Amino acid sequence: MINENDAKFGIPVLQPGQQELPSRLRVLKPKIDLKKCQKNYNCMVSCPHNAITVHANGYPTIDYNLCTGCLICLRECPAFAITEEHEKRVPKL
Ligand code: SF4
Repeated sequence: MINENDAKFGIPVLQPGQQELPSRLRVLKPKIDLKKCQKNYNCMVSCPHNAITVHANGYPTIDYNLCTGCLICLRECPAFAITEEHEKRVPKL
């Protein structure tokens, strides 16, 4: 199980036997600035949870039901088009 202290500090950690971090524990979430996006799709390719897909307008879009908030996409974007913001809801343990 997820330790309550882990989620409190925004560091959900996989525990033995746990397959994936559920999105409900997300403390930070990525946000894409479409004005900066260069459509190189590094974010989509790098997302380990397949939470980013391409919208009909050609821009990447994030499925927050799948996103765990790992922020790998943020680090992989060469255009710095992805920023992080705090979740407004309290993570459910
Ligand atoms: S924060 Fe992680 S899970 Fe969420 S969209 Fe970015 S890479 Fe995918």
